[in-house]
Amino acid sequence: MDIIHLLPDSVANQIAAGEVIQRPASCLKELVENSLDAGATRIQVIVRDAGRTLLQVIDNGIGMSEMDARLAFERHATSKIREAQDLFSLRTMGFRGEALPSICAVSQVEMMTRRAEDETGTLIEIHGSDVVRQEPCSCPVGTNIKVSNLFFNVPVRRKFLKTDQTELRNLLTEFYHIVLVYPKVNFTFVHNDEILLELPAGTEKQRIEAVFGNPKRNAYTSAFVDVHTETELVSIRGFVIKPENATRKAEQYFFVNGRYMRHPYFQKAVMTAYSGMLTADYQPSFFIYFDISPESIDVNIHPTKTEIKFADEQAIFQILMAAVREALGKFTLAPTIDFDTRGAIDIPAPATDRVSRPQVAVDPTYNPFHTRGTIYPDKAPKSWESLYEGVRSDRFADGPATPDRAQTAAMPLTEIDSGPLWQYNGKYIFLPGEEGLTMIHQHRAHVTILYHRFLDQMAHAQGASQQLLFPEVISLSPDEMVLVGQIAEELRTIGFELEQLSPDSYSIQGVPSQIAAQSPVPVLQQILSCVRERGADTRAEWREQIALSLAQSAAIPVGKSLNEKEMRELVSSLMQIPTHRITPDGKTVLALLSNEEIEKKF
Ligand code: ADP
Ligand code: MG
Repeated sequence: MDIIHLLPDSVANQIAAGEVIQRPASCLKELVENSLDAGATRIQVIVRDAGRTLLQVIDNGIGMSEMDARLAFERHATSKIREAQDLFSLRTMGFRGEALPSICAVSQVEMMTRRAEDETGTLIEIHGSDVVRQEPCSCPVGTNIKVSNLFFNVPVRRKFLKTDQTELRNLLTEFYHIVLVYPKVNFTFVHNDEILLELPAGTEKQRIEAVFGNPKRNAYTSAFVDVHTETELVSIRGFVIKPENATRKAEQYFFVNGRYMRHPYFQKAVMTAYSGMLTADYQPSFFIYFDISPESIDVNIHPTKTEIKFADEQAIFQILMAAVREALGKFTLAPTIDFDTRGAIDIPAPATDRVSRPQVAVDPTYNPFHTRGTIYPDKAPKSWESLYEGVRSDRFADGPATPDRAQTAAMPLTEIDSGPLWQYNGKYIFLPGEEGLTMIHQHRAHVTILYHRFLDQMAHAQGASQQLLFPEVISLSPDEMVLVGQIAEELRTIGFELEQLSPDSYSIQGVPSQIAAQSPVPVLQQILSCVRERGADTRAEWREQIALSLAQSAAIPVGKSLNEKEMRELVSSLMQIPTHRITPDGKTVLALLSNEEIEKKF
């Protein structure tokens, strides 16, 4: 008996679907890109239940003939042969003819399509690769494709989908990537009968405004300056935020030849251009569009990847950095910009994969007070051990590994209560000891302490809330509204009292008492961006992100002078935390200048 046989198409398509269509967002991307490839100037996206039940894309593009409508669902059927000859060309989105067959293999598809030259259109219905209906129909010019019950026949995939809110956020993120490069196309996005985005045709700047701006506030884009540079190698244009408008929540977008890309190395170029201009932890927002000859980039042709390699990354790094610096220099009065320091700037080498974290040598077992002997073993644990029960701070996936708690259990010591200590530069606390000089970053120390307190309060739903005398209104973008709904319970347990005012705003009526002195809107914004950027997806992760972000907002700032009592309290609270050497997000809290190192200097 022969043992080699060809896979039936339906099976091959399901396998391909696993690669191309991983979640509703990837399906949406393929459909919208097809509409754009078909020259549509108006694209409507209609979604139900975050794409689980329905994903519909209606366009006014060129449509398909009766024959093409059927062929479109065959594997490797593509009308984009011209592009297929040059796989490096990015000018059209699709070229492999895999999307539609993959989509119909895992869903129920109904499509109506008509070309301008045809009097009647075609209706075709396919369930899991089987054509169940094909007939003429009357419909407008263009294509209207409905994808229902995604993964109805692939339970494993369905099970891997996240909550509706998360999948909806993924859909919106994918949608942003596309709409930001097609400002001349009119888009709408409707979810469960609610219009989340309505984007009229306009310029790039108007599109950014329409997506991220809020009609009730100052123009979002007025916070930006233009970047523009033309070289033989590349042309770069776009918008970068003025340093004084930077926040902790940043929108950072790169596009190349009309397509969204991630590029950590170029992101570093932008960050370098801002160096010295931003307050700690603030991030610059930017929208930067590259145009480059397709031959000098290597598109990873896998449809779900957004990384792109450039032939001359180092040269483009320099061009980009110079362009951003020039833009910032022209429009701000920042005295810190020094155009003559070019040579002195430390330019990192291109990251091979993603940006690697700075390598900080951390000895997790180091405790500056260990060797000094006078420990209160009986006084220590009881009170605080239980406080950190169940607290795992190693969930920050890309942070340094967290040392084993047993190794680092800290011990409060007499010296903290009595030995000398002083504040240095408004930023550090210095403590001389037997091994040398221990230096503690006061802000990060406080962040670490507060983080654990907030986590604990959330775990026991004990957050103390302070009512605001004058409730404040926070306006949010559609994806942020979704996010707030998602983490509402966590926000409540830590002391936020929120009430939805309108489809795009909440009123803040109470806040965690620890941040009562601060203006609540930026604090909440910061939480949302923290949760969003970390891609937090579970309750535990949300809590960690909320705790971290609140801790960062509430912690004593750099520059605050502390009296002796405050310093002692800070240091001893810090030492009670098993992982006191690094902040929950992996920054160094404490360093030792050893006696040896001090000796060497003389
Ligand atoms: P690809 O986009 O890689 O060619 P797809 O499977 O996404 O492959 O689509 C197959 C073909 O179906 C396309 O090449 C195009 O001819 C046709 N097609 C798909 N969507 C549309 C649309 N919205 N309007 C017109 N034609 C379309
Ligand atoms: Mg396609």
